[in-house]
Amino acid sequence: MADMRYAFSWIFAVLLLGGCSPSDIHETRFIMGTLVEFTVADADSARAEAAMAAAADEMQRIENIFTIYGKTDNAVKAFNASPPGVPVELPGEVNALLGQALDIEKRSDGAFNPALGRLNRLWGFSGESPPSQPPSSEAIRDAMPVQPCIHRLPDGRWQRNHASCMLDFGAIAKGYAIDRGMAVLKQRGIHHAIINAGGDIRLIGSHHGKPWRIGLRHPRRKGAVLGSLSVSGDVSIVTSGDYERYFLYKDRRYHHILNPQTGMPATASQSATVIAASATLADAWSTALFVLGPDGLAHLERLGMPALLVDRKGRLKINDSMRLLFDQDR
Ligand code: FAD
Ligand code: MG
Repeated sequence: MADMRYAFSWIFAVLLLGGCSPSDIHETRFIMGTLVEFTVADADSARAEAAMAAAADEMQRIENIFTIYGKTDNAVKAFNASPPGVPVELPGEVNALLGQALDIEKRSDGAFNPALGRLNRLWGFSGESPPSQPPSSEAIRDAMPVQPCIHRLPDGRWQRNHASCMLDFGAIAKGYAIDRGMAVLKQRGIHHAIINAGGDIRLIGSHHGKPWRIGLRHPRRKGAVLGSLSVSGDVSIVTSGDYERYFLYKDRRYHHILNPQTGMPATASQSATVIAASATLADAWSTALFVLGPDGLAHLERLGMPALLVDRKGRLKINDSMRLLFDQDR
């Protein structure tokens, strides 16, 4: 019998440390299968609450555009159901995020792949009822996206080349939604705030004159942190881990971040954290780094992104630019 442990996203990959100030205003919403926490540190409660409600609505709008779950109709689902070889026009935001996702796929040597929809659905980590045992190897083979999978035609329309190619923005759209939510907070005159969507964070400004202090969750010790980051300005910090959506079967851990080469959960890391200029980038690259494992750290350094990971054996590995920011818990 499988040992089923399926912890939802309210067990955060990232914890806010250093306490909250009584003057902080909070709002929480359930969006994209995740508890999203808003914190505003610099506004009276009426203004902060109106701004956070508008930001949450914007994030819900992004979910509706990109979701491949539930009953909402959208262009992504229509594309996934379109006959292979038939060009499809995608709306502006889908078009732009797909372009960015395919660029990251190329630059990560395929570790990040936005066309794993069929495979992700087969594993079922975001489905109605959580899985308790792995699919058969034949089913995995059949669900692997046949490459080259998706391409843009000269007229800007998109085509999927094979029925196995289905879009899934699960590893990037949460970041994009946070970026949009933060844009709304800024438009409403908020200068000091955090949006935390289950371990995907974007923060602006500071916390009553001090840097925001962000704890990175230990992937195996519940309630413990690996260390912390003290940051201010406009920073996105995203962690991908194998400890939120997983099950144990025959003493082995199966989780939701897949290695596109094998169709199986990636085995190089327990968690991976990336800091980037946008939550979109940090989200996509933290997933890519999780798959790449320690070899990916130098690549992220070359791309200018501070990054760290806990490898499969539980060892903490940090690239040079992250070393300057990270205060390790000893
Ligand atoms: P990340 O590492 O950022 O992403 C992992 C997710 O990306 C996987 O779950 C899979 O979907 C996909 N993925 C796996 N491997 C790769 C890879 N190598 N490259 C690229 N992508 C990969 N969850 C629910 O339970 N119910 C919902 O209704 C629901 N709706 C959602 C709607 C939207 C628009 C989004 C963006 C997410 C939604 N989710 C939902 C959550 C989603 O299914 C993922 O579990 C979640 O985005 C994973 O985020 P993460 O930060 O844990 O992991
Ligand atoms: Mg991601």
